[in-house]
Amino acid sequence: MALPFCAQAEQRFALVIHGGAGTLTREAITPELDAQIRAALNQSLDAGAAVLADGGTSLDAVVASVKVLEDSPHFNAGKGAVFTHEGRNELDASIMDGATRQAGAVAGLRTVRNPIDLARAVMEKSPHVMLIGEGAEQFAKERGIAQVEPEYFRTEHRWRQLQDVLERESTQASLPPSTYFGTVGAVALDSDRRLAAATSTGGMVNKRWGRVGDAPIIGAGTYADTNCGVSATGWGEFFIRLSVAYDICARMKYGQQSLAEAADAAVMTEVTVLGGDGGVIAMDAQGAIRMPFSTRGMYRGWIGVDGSRGVAIFADEDDPDGRIAP
Ligand code: ASP
Repeated sequence: MALPFCAQAEQRFALVIHGGAGTLTREAITPELDAQIRAALNQSLDAGAAVLADGGTSLDAVVASVKVLEDSPHFNAGKGAVFTHEGRNELDASIMDGATRQAGAVAGLRTVRNPIDLARAVMEKSPHVMLIGEGAEQFAKERGIAQVEPEYFRTEHRWRQLQDVLERESTQASLPPSTYFGTVGAVALDSDRRLAAATSTGGMVNKRWGRVGDAPIIGAGTYADTNCGVSATGWGEFFIRLSVAYDICARMKYGQQSLAEAADAAVMTEVTVLGGDGGVIAMDAQGAIRMPFSTRGMYRGWIGVDGSRGVAIFADEDDPDGRIAP
């Protein structure tokens, strides 16, 4: 039988973050880059943990963690986002409060510095759940959310990535889709046992026609209720078609599956069977954490209710099966 929350742990919170799944190999990441990425993941954990240790809410914590990753040029969200086919950065984000089931989402942003701030403002300051494009940016202006010139998001390595993809496209030598994505996200449990989840992304490189993936779709890329919180990363079309984030929580709610069973089934079976790939970070109301992914790696970090803490990138590290139990 599970112990009561307070008896189980010295601390009363848990936090899990991701910086995207994809074709991450040791050969492709220099030791310097590896160290920088792990430092950024730790900074993101520190930001969320500081909120939670101070008795703050899981909502504040996931926003704090995600903003660090949005501000880092190493991840495909905020600064460092991938480029569209036309050479622009178009950003999507969403957030959900598990206790109230309130949610906010934004898509197709070009000037909002931290899309997760705007998603939260949509949730808390508008009667809507999802705003897109120019209307969303107008709302950002009215709410005083920080905006920047579109060039702010540009990084040279993402620009080169687009040129590489365009070149391969013209020679029909396309790369596997897992080379094209990346996203950031966080799920937290606070001392009042409230779960929250947040996700932010630049989407998939070379996207066009106003393509929007799963990250800003509540139930696909982000979901939270009183017993389950999920943030996803991967080939968004599959995560939308399978409502992956909601599917995990529904398996727990209606099917009495454990977090581990639910997350593994949704990612490793359902997405894979349809031909997609990616991963999730998921947490239950006891602070159990599960991080299944079907790609070569997923940038990830966690602080368990038992105080255990770590960051990892590759599939064979620390949590060999992408699994952490409390
Ligand atoms: N899921 C995101 C999308 O499809 C990309 C990612 O998570 O890597 O837009």
